[in-house]
Amino acid sequence: MSSVWHPFTQHGLREPIPCVARAEGAALFTTDGRRVIDAISSWWVTTHGHAHPRIAAAIREQAGRLDQMIFAGWTHEPAKEVAAGLRAIMPASLTRVFFSDSGSTSVEVALKMALGYWLARAEPRHRILVMEHGYHGDTIGAMSVGQRGVFNRAYAPLLFDVETIPYPAAGAEQGTLDALERACAGGAAAFIVEPLVLGAGGMLFYAPEVLAQMRAICARHGVLFIADEVMTGWGRTGTLLACEQAGIEPDILCLSKGLTGGALPLAVTMASEPIFDAHWSTDRGRMFFHSSSYTANPIACAAAAANLAIWREEPVRERVARLGEAQARRLAALEGVRNARRLGTIAAFEVGAGEGYLADIAPRLLAFFRDRDVLLRPLGDTLYVMPPYCIDDTDLERIYFVIAEAIAAKR
Ligand SMILES: *Cc1c(COP(=O)(O)O)cnc(C)c1O
Repeated sequence: MSSVWHPFTQHGLREPIPCVARAEGAALFTTDGRRVIDAISSWWVTTHGHAHPRIAAAIREQAGRLDQMIFAGWTHEPAKEVAAGLRAIMPASLTRVFFSDSGSTSVEVALKMALGYWLARAEPRHRILVMEHGYHGDTIGAMSVGQRGVFNRAYAPLLFDVETIPYPAAGAEQGTLDALERACAGGAAAFIVEPLVLGAGGMLFYAPEVLAQMRAICARHGVLFIADEVMTGWGRTGTLLACEQAGIEPDILCLSKGLTGGALPLAVTMASEPIFDAHWSTDRGRMFFHSSSYTANPIACAAAAANLAIWREEPVRERVARLGEAQARRLAALEGVRNARRLGTIAAFEVGAGEGYLADIAPRLLAFFRDRDVLLRPLGDTLYVMPPYCIDDTDLERIYFVIAEAIAAKR
């Protein structure tokens, strides 16, 4: 028996834990010779496909040249290349690029930047506004701004207070906007939100118009707007950023998952010039106090630079559009599901009666799909299909065939 302690895994249930030997495109190959279709992009990170030749080559090459170095007060070419590449395609007002190593950390950095900004203005504000059903990671700060529940009940005493505005469910949008208006008027440091899709909260969508109005409310009150595009970034919602669909630019932007195409852990927090300026001084006591050992690791940066080159030089947007259309067709043909919805490459629907994350149906579905060599991981009774952009029709058809089988077996 292995001594590995797995994340989000109840070892007491003694579920089999498949061992993967290699991956290519949209497929994982297990040590016991099975080919498994990766229908969730290995937890939302793999965009172009596993082991993309350009990204793999960039990693190989960089590993032999410069593997790791301190980033406080020093720099290297791959980091400069990533920053320049991001500046060229991300919103123009986001002029500064701060590196870290996971989505959670990029959120922690964003929150620290926001508080640093207000402190420097001699107008300390520390209240953070969040959205109901939000998810921003599993570190203490990231959990604090996320939905409270079974995931973090044990750690509640460690989490800081936030003010939560309701999720803008269809028909209830005005309630969200009014609540945000009131919360902003009360004075707040920042509002953090997942643009257009609340991922871990259950693949909940809301309209670009709501996002645009929320941004406008924050701007009117001078409340910093933090867009957590860790999941929605890099084409997932059909555009490079979800914010694009609302025509907005945030004050702070968190990116991770697809930043390296899903090959290595890396994150950035991009900030507007006023936020950088607020930390700019000749006083060492006012610099931005955040670092980790592997900040801007050169190998991870080389992977991100290759990802940026792929976005510039390959028809990624066409692939995203094609996958979106294919998902829409399959989804339309699916029977016996509730609330079928799609945005860009993400398709989601409910298969149960709405029992939440610990719904009994989830582990049964997980096992059903695992036995059929399809990697799908329900969020409670919400099922979603979010494959790498390179998936072919045969594999996508197989995913939906297996889902239909599971629904039929349930009835
Ligand atoms: C996954 C996710 C995070 C956390 O990223 P990690 O790399 O897992 O720490 C933060 N925000 C959103 C929206 C995410 O989907």
